[in-house]
Amino acid sequence: MDKNQATKQLTELREKLEKYGYHYYVMDTPIVPDQEYDRLLNELLEIEEMFPDLVTDDSPSVRVGGAPLPHFKKVAHQIPMMSLGNAFNEQDLRDFDRRVRQFAGDTPVAYICELKIDGLAVSLTYEDGKLVRGATRGDGTTGEDITNNLKTVSAVPLRLKNQVDLEVRGEAYMPKRSFEALNNAKKEAGEEPFANPRNAAAGSLRQLDPKIAAKRNLSLYVYSIGELQGKEIDSHYEGLSFLKETGFKVNTETTRCESIEDVIAYTETWVEKRHDLAYEIDGIVIKVDSLQLQKEMGFTAKSPRWATAYKFPAEEVVTKLLDIELNI
Ligand code: NAD
Repeated sequence: MDKNQATKQLTELREKLEKYGYHYYVMDTPIVPDQEYDRLLNELLEIEEMFPDLVTDDSPSVRVGGAPLPHFKKVAHQIPMMSLGNAFNEQDLRDFDRRVRQFAGDTPVAYICELKIDGLAVSLTYEDGKLVRGATRGDGTTGEDITNNLKTVSAVPLRLKNQVDLEVRGEAYMPKRSFEALNNAKKEAGEEPFANPRNAAAGSLRQLDPKIAAKRNLSLYVYSIGELQGKEIDSHYEGLSFLKETGFKVNTETTRCESIEDVIAYTETWVEKRHDLAYEIDGIVIKVDSLQLQKEMGFTAKSPRWATAYKFPAEEVVTKLLDIELNI
């Protein structure tokens, strides 16, 4: 591929990805399956890697999420809420491990494996242990203020056991049973059903009436600390234990792995077991446990170098959504 061809292809890919990203992140109504989006994004990444001077500031490869909706008050994230790099197979996981160990040198590396719950990333801010703000990720630096909606979610503590100043991140989601009940009710009322639990959760929280959010039976798992005043924490696992003690719901399937072999075994187990859960997951998130090593590894423009998201293999690649795409 020469530079002219690359420029042309990148323009086409960016246009498509921007359109799909807008429907997914801003409107909560995807028009193509995730696998199709990921395939195009990977194609874009490969071309950008071959021609680094063609990477633009607004490329989907360096941007997180979508712009906040105008009718919400905006919230500036003190620490950006980023995306995650992807791993699609065992080799990608081994490559991730190799990159991590290059940074770590002789220090042994441990990973924390977490279920990647398919919902909406939110940030919760507590002052003196009291919930003062809840926000969406938005474009990573600016989110939407959805405090009143998040207060209706029973898994969101309004007051913590410790009087701490804390910003915590987690995934708000709709359990499968609630999703089915909601869509049945929507169909009976002649309304358009939600495409999947992720969009149902996002649609329930990104609207202005807390009474609607309250009826939707949402839940939340927290998975990381953004900021914490007055307490030293050395590892991600320790952080999760602290969050649990202080009153948050932390996923019980979270596991500490001492090697990439254990990480691979964990991902394989969940490819099989994913449908047994009461909520949807779209992969496994693997994070370096040591916060010191996380700090040393840092971030790319879009995601931390110390974490990756293993995406489950596609179960049905051609879906109704693809048919819709052909008609737009
Ligand atoms: P990502 O895959 O990069 O992952 C980051 C997100 O994972 C976080 O923001 C958080 O919401 C979530 N998460 C769940 N559990 C987590 C855990 N334990 N730890 C950390 N994060 C956790 O997400 P992204 O940046 O929003 O975008 C990529 C995803 O969105 C892809 O799966 C892509 O297919 C999908 N997408 C689909 C379309 C479409 O049109 N179908 C468009 C855009 C994006």
